[in-house]
Amino acid sequence: MSAENPDLAIAQAATLKPITEIAERAGVPAEALVPYGTHKAKVDVRRMTPTGRTGRLVLVSAMSPTPAGEGKSTTTVGLADAFSLQGHRTMVALREPALGPIMGIKGGATGGGHAQVVPMEDINLHFTGDFHAIQIANNTLAALVDNHLHQGNALNIDPRRIQWKRVVDVNDRALRKITIGLGGPAQGVPREDGFDIVVASEIMAVLCLATDLEDLQARIDRIVVGFTYDRDPVSVADLGVGGAITMLLKDALLPNLVQTLGGTPALVHGGPFANIAHGCNSLAATRLALSLADITVTEAGFGSDLGAEKFLDIKSRLGGLSPDAAVVVATVRALKMHGGVAKADLAAENIDAALAGTANLARHVQNMRRFGIEPVIALNRFPTDTDTELEAVLGWAREQGFRAALSEVWAHGGEGGLAVAEQVLAAIEHDRPDFHHLYDPAAGVEETLRTLAREIYGADDVVFEDRAPAQLRMLKRNGWDTLPVCVAKTQYSFSDDPTALGAPTGHVLHVRDLVPKIGAGFVVALTGAVMTMPGLPREPAALRMGLTESGESVGLF
Ligand code: ADP
Repeated sequence: MSAENPDLAIAQAATLKPITEIAERAGVPAEALVPYGTHKAKVDVRRMTPTGRTGRLVLVSAMSPTPAGEGKSTTTVGLADAFSLQGHRTMVALREPALGPIMGIKGGATGGGHAQVVPMEDINLHFTGDFHAIQIANNTLAALVDNHLHQGNALNIDPRRIQWKRVVDVNDRALRKITIGLGGPAQGVPREDGFDIVVASEIMAVLCLATDLEDLQARIDRIVVGFTYDRDPVSVADLGVGGAITMLLKDALLPNLVQTLGGTPALVHGGPFANIAHGCNSLAATRLALSLADITVTEAGFGSDLGAEKFLDIKSRLGGLSPDAAVVVATVRALKMHGGVAKADLAAENIDAALAGTANLARHVQNMRRFGIEPVIALNRFPTDTDTELEAVLGWAREQGFRAALSEVWAHGGEGGLAVAEQVLAAIEHDRPDFHHLYDPAAGVEETLRTLAREIYGADDVVFEDRAPAQLRMLKRNGWDTLPVCVAKTQYSFSDDPTALGAPTGHVLHVRDLVPKIGAGFVVALTGAVMTMPGLPREPAALRMGLTESGESVGLF
């Protein structure tokens, strides 16, 4: 096994079961299975008879992460394998990785070590083509908007107020702001445009929240592409192209079935950003898993302030989900970072700093409690952690009365997750989850943002600056003021300042823009500098990638 790249080496060494066997284990009937080769399949939910059952739902979130990630996907997969080992009928529901970041710093998103979903290379690269379909659907709509301008602009669209951008699944900073339509009348109408990464497309959010094809088309029809010269919204329905866009997404709407290294059936489907979108896998996949398994383990992006809050306030509200338990992943290195240690020194033992960083973790626990869920802290053990550090953190959790257990799934797979699994089951049984949403959107976007800022981010207040005051008026004018709010905020801090680590208080949330995502059914509130098209670093991971002589990938992680 390559010491440099354990995730890929472990995944490549694994013997995978045929996907038909995994489907049988999951309870997916043969007639609903659409195999993509031997180890991947789509599940055609329309060919299944509803089971009428709903299993337990366990949501995995994390403390505010370091840039490397704290092991949410790893913990999600390992915890599911632990439940399987205990004899529970279990499924995992995860997001699909975005390709752009894989070439940069972050690597893939299939878990790590002995807790991965496989085939790892396929899932991290083109998989079953869902993201490509979303990309083409998004860009077809962009082309149709520009064609409408070129062909006489019957809808009176103001080219300066088009909010529908193009997308590509590459971290390509040069495409953030572009000018299109140059070269004379035959080349279209010149205007400013730009590219986002695919996971930032509203089509991605729409696909992940749609209950079926009909709902998908209804949501696509509602997407607002821009505004007229009179400031009236222009929707996909006005353009009359909702049918074509939905047609391009027909197969992408079907959940993808794969397996974990422990042989647990896994649905890996959809992948919206956790800042400008809601950050969790598709509702279709979560519902399918819940209808088949006794326990479904799922993950929401970033920490309790972003992915988990949106899972609970947006996805659960729309999809009628009610989580039974939550896990907050913590690591000694993230605790040390929140305790003031510089990135370069995170590997050295520092118990005081780890304990100082618990302020951040404690607030994530309190946040989950605000939704009526008593979470379990999964302390994800890294090879550089010392026993003294781990014991100090677990001792602190005991003193606080928090449920906590060591997670060693990266090193030992499902066996390493049994302690966390037991705590989760105990929480379901003894702590009696009483799930409720944090806010009622009927209070209006301003009030919702105040509630989020005060209760989840520890802020004193919200200021609306730049375009936000005018956007608030626009939302009210169009009847969009009572939609749930999806906050785009840095994942590194509870505040909108990525350098404010720990558990900051007394700060103010700066909302600078409010973007209606009417197809998805929420309003995005942009705070701080949130990037919708990332760039590549000085030394992109792509430099270390390639194929061996026998055609195996190297350099993926
Ligand atoms: P997240 O979902 O929080 O972004 P991941 O589960 O994707 O995090 O893990 C990020 C990276 O960290 C992966 O490369 C994974 O292999 C690695 N990792 C996770 N947990 C551990 C651990 N306990 N020890 C060593 N590496 C780990």
